[in-house]
Amino acid sequence: MILVTGGAGYIGSHTCIELLQNDFNVLVIDNLMNSSFEALKRVEKITGKSVGFIEGDVRDNALMKQIFSNYQIEAVIHFAGLKAVGESCALPLKYYDNNINSTLVLCQTMEEAGVKKLVFSSSATVYGDPSPETLPLTEQAALSATNPYGRSKLIIEEMLRDLPAADKLNNANPWGIAILRYFNPVGNHKSGTLGEDPSGIPNNLMPFITQTAIGRRKELSVFGDNYDTIDGTGVRDYIHVVDLAKGHVKAVEKLLSNEGINGAQAYNLGTGSGVSVLQMVKAFSEENKVTIAYKIVDRRPGDVTAYYANADKAQKELNWTTELTLNDMVKDSWNWQSKNPNGYQQ
Ligand code: NAD
Ligand code: UDP
Repeated sequence: MILVTGGAGYIGSHTCIELLQNDFNVLVIDNLMNSSFEALKRVEKITGKSVGFIEGDVRDNALMKQIFSNYQIEAVIHFAGLKAVGESCALPLKYYDNNINSTLVLCQTMEEAGVKKLVFSSSATVYGDPSPETLPLTEQAALSATNPYGRSKLIIEEMLRDLPAADKLNNANPWGIAILRYFNPVGNHKSGTLGEDPSGIPNNLMPFITQTAIGRRKELSVFGDNYDTIDGTGVRDYIHVVDLAKGHVKAVEKLLSNEGINGAQAYNLGTGSGVSVLQMVKAFSEENKVTIAYKIVDRRPGDVTAYYANADKAQKELNWTTELTLNDMVKDSWNWQSKNPNGYQQ
């Protein structure tokens, strides 16, 4: 059985589908602070399989101990965490508490239970503000953080790298850890029943575009058109969430294989292509035949100019590569939003 923390969330719920479709049993722990139980009901409907669910907080030591003693957990995928960059600048302690403490408690209970196979949700934000000559980014690129959210991911990565190093000193069973550095996940399951449903005003580009298209937002604010990029707007490596979810299955399969994963290994999960904000708006409008009203505004503080991945390591070692295109991303995003104008709250 695979324990999925934060499995009711956007990436977690899509990953549950792929795990179930690959015949893994899935147990989710989620405190539902940024998600809805409805997402898991939809996962069950899509797959025709059931998902175990425990409503609770990963920082709850006693609960985590109970889970590891009650269930035969083979590996853990750790999605649970907070992810809004702006909020992390205003409330850094909330971010350090949730993101770092949850990982600490999880790893402690895993070690006590002797379950030492972990997939961790990291982010391309750990590359900080990369200089153009380092693009596309390999896993060896310099690491830094520009905000408390990014710093929490960086601290967790460092902590995870210490664990296999300690095994060698203690002659212990080895940890195997896949640190997955996601580029920019967008899109939704093609059924249009499962999707990204941020509470409040979306921080990310794609939900802002879809909410503008559905009429919940008047217009998209494009944060700056004077960057040194193809059209002056920020460039990112957008990846379809279903491709991303499949990357987690590949990582789990590798961890559970005889070969395993040696120590703590970072893998970039991206397409390798950079897309600007205006290119994304154009792709969305053309594919879905809807107009997106937008205006150019000042740069958003803390934003970086451009980044995209070199994902060769994931291809070579995890046998993973992206299959879905930018058109799939914009089509599936709109399919979800147009079928669920108010997200999971109907
Ligand atoms: P999400 O908010 O949809 O999912 C996170 C889930 O974790 C939610 O269901 C939330 O209720 C739950 N959760 C949060 N804290 C918890 C806790 N202490 N105990 C139990 N449950 C808790 O976010 P997502 O987009 O699915 O992101 C999942 C992970 O991927 C996060 O760690 C995030 O930092 C990372 N990530 C996301 C992106 C992105 O753009 N979406 C990019 C890079 C990395
Ligand atoms: N962006 C924008 N308007 C928005 C949200 C985002 O112009 O309402 C831009 C942002 O400046 C960046 C890109 O879209 O260039 C992706 O932003 P997002 O917040 O989705 O991801 P991140 O900045 O974390 O990579």
